[in-house]
Amino acid sequence: MLTNSEIVELTELRRKLHRRPELSGEEVETAKTIVDALNAISPTKILTSLGGHGVAAVFDSGVAGPTVLFRAELDALPIHELSNNPWASAVPGIGHMCGHDGHMMFLLALGRSVSRNPIAKGRVILMFQPAEEDGTGARAVVSDAAYNDIRPDYAFAIHVEPGRPFGYVSTRVGLINCASKGLEVKLKGKTAHAADPEDGISPALAVAKLIPVLGGLGKGGALDDNFRMSTVTHACVGEYSFGIAPGEAVITITLRAARDDALQAMEDEARAMTRGVAAEYGLAVSFDVCDAFAATVNDAEATEIAVTAMNALNVENGDAGLPMRASEDFGVFGWGAKAAMLCIGPGEGYAALHSQEYDFPDDLIPVGAAIFERITRDLLNS
Ligand SMILES: [Zn+2]
Ligand SMILES: [Zn+2]
Repeated sequence: MLTNSEIVELTELRRKLHRRPELSGEEVETAKTIVDALNAISPTKILTSLGGHGVAAVFDSGVAGPTVLFRAELDALPIHELSNNPWASAVPGIGHMCGHDGHMMFLLALGRSVSRNPIAKGRVILMFQPAEEDGTGARAVVSDAAYNDIRPDYAFAIHVEPGRPFGYVSTRVGLINCASKGLEVKLKGKTAHAADPEDGISPALAVAKLIPVLGGLGKGGALDDNFRMSTVTHACVGEYSFGIAPGEAVITITLRAARDDALQAMEDEARAMTRGVAAEYGLAVSFDVCDAFAATVNDAEATEIAVTAMNALNVENGDAGLPMRASEDFGVFGWGAKAAMLCIGPGEGYAALHSQEYDFPDDLIPVGAAIFERITRDLLNS
């Protein structure tokens, strides 16, 4: 249990981080602040520079038992915050508009508890991952050689999700967040004078053909095992000009599916269809993949552990709003571990994630901390 003064301290630290947000992959000062806060509670070991600016604290009982990882995120978003709060972002154009500043406090609160009352067996890992928002951080962390020493048996994360009552937690066995990836398609022909377009190779008609084809790869609909969604997010042909027949074009699409293998199949289809249309118009084609997220899928045992902990604490829970189309980098921590993602409500009428008005509700700090502490005690103190 957190004391009142600890709640005040963690609230102040949350607001301090909120004022100094850093983008994905650039979380230098945030990581330093976290390391300072961890040093004050004396974990067995602190790992830094994990997969970029990732930080992990290890609390090792010295007794054989499971390794239990709790995940938070270091990064903020390229969103300008609209707020008059004294702790509003002091960095123009960048804001903690996904609640990651608050998620970090759940972990520091758990660290204080474990520091005060050590676990009886196994290990607790407090994992502060970098670059969650672009889907690169978790993969970079798990492929870092240093991660081999802290590979977990269980992994848990809590993310704030507006649209739920305050303190209500949604979770379920199976799909929580879809797999997704951005695919950039570049078409290359040849420019010409606008008066002599026949001398060039324009990608304009190929783009006109590809937009409905690529956008039609997945129609959305019910979020079941066969869910596929394709969204054309951007398209550009040539330069803004009246004298040049275009020679290049870019289309970007975001592909989404309920399973990693289904997403890969969609990507293969997108590439094949694009190659076909490009060949038809005599265009060269190249591809790039961005923001690739694995599906987040909850393990049955890990979910049961989390639900048991919440019921013991009288935390109202269910599966409202799940699964979600949006993606989450946590899925990668479930590779080789039993993982569960929990979505906690901030209360009705709360601003949406990634909106300019979003702010993490500090009153959730003790709620999330209590859930993590109970899971820890149930797994490592019995
Ligand atoms: Zn986000
Ligand atoms: Zn987030």
